[in-house]
Amino acid sequence: MKFRIPLDNIEWLQERIGKLAKKASKLGCPPISLTLSENLVEEHEDGSVSIYRLVEVVGEAPVLNGWAFVARLHYLGADEGNLVLVVPNQILPEEFRVRPPQCDYCETTRMRKDTFVVQDTSNGIYFQVGSDCLRDFLGHPHPEQVAQYAEWLSTAAELVRAAETQIGPAYQERFSLELFLALTSATIRKDGWVSRKKAREAYENGAKGLSATADMVWHMLAEDKIREYIPSPQDHELAVMVEVWAGDLPEPVEDYLWNLRAIAQAGWVDRRMAGFAASMVSAYQRAHQALTPQGEWIGEIGGRLTLALLLKQFKVTEPIDPSQPRWYIYKFADDVGNAVTWITSCNRRLEEGRVYQVKATVKKHSEFRGVRETCINRPVFLGVNLANG
Ligand SMILES: [Zn+2]
Repeated sequence: MKFRIPLDNIEWLQERIGKLAKKASKLGCPPISLTLSENLVEEHEDGSVSIYRLVEVVGEAPVLNGWAFVARLHYLGADEGNLVLVVPNQILPEEFRVRPPQCDYCETTRMRKDTFVVQDTSNGIYFQVGSDCLRDFLGHPHPEQVAQYAEWLSTAAELVRAAETQIGPAYQERFSLELFLALTSATIRKDGWVSRKKAREAYENGAKGLSATADMVWHMLAEDKIREYIPSPQDHELAVMVEVWAGDLPEPVEDYLWNLRAIAQAGWVDRRMAGFAASMVSAYQRAHQALTPQGEWIGEIGGRLTLALLLKQFKVTEPIDPSQPRWYIYKFADDVGNAVTWITSCNRRLEEGRVYQVKATVKKHSEFRGVRETCINRPVFLGVNLANG
């Protein structure tokens, strides 16, 4: 399979593939390399020009005793399903994305992290084999080396696919957790939460179109296709709250919460962690459902009020799509501590810890993580007082 890689990304890609090739040759595996076409020039209607090359990954998909390596599955959990690393030019049937870590050879399902999908080259039948059974199954003394090689090949294919997008060298195998959570929140708002378990069950019942929220979010970010799921300022706000909550969890006993905390403290998400990270939003919501709302709403919706507001927190969101505005989120407290929020696309350079006399319209009354909030708009700042403590 040939990929169309912008010229600007070629050097980056070659460097990354070179590192993989070095590892492979150390193990005595067949070489991994790229074939590149000459520069191809595409002229656009506006007179601009794109230069690209066609690139293909070269590497033999390993075959042992008639079994071809197709993919390595890294099991994350019942809800998260598998991380799948597919060897280039091989096709992994979708059902393996959500298969439990079973071994078709010894016919057991137990807690093993990694399994391999191999295909009988004579009849096309797929087999899932536990890593500990590979040797017996394939009749090869060092199948783990072959498996490792298969994984490098699949990594090479992912790199090429990544370089194909215009993002190129700025391509991240990691995304900021806040961005990931904001997009998760937007996706849940639009489509509802779909765990990998639910997606798997739907698949088993013949409904093929249902994607797990975590996979949707990862793909939107990785392929830079957000479309109608652009997070709102509220999604970004929720993302910050979720990240803070998870990062501050006191020494969790459960593995699940432990993982959430670790991810929040890291502040970024890679593909392996996407399932956990996406579930962080609903875990947060569950944890806060039980709380009785705090504070009171102020004024009548549409009414105009004059308030003394202490600016407690100020935040700017970075839009995913550069054509979208940045949002400035100002979180205030009135003189008795009720929450007041103003979200705007212009930076008013207000200072945290200061009290502002504000005349504003009540836009809406909402509730956020158990706190009643009054959202305002069209504020007029009447004067500035220093906060007294
Ligand atoms: Zn087995």
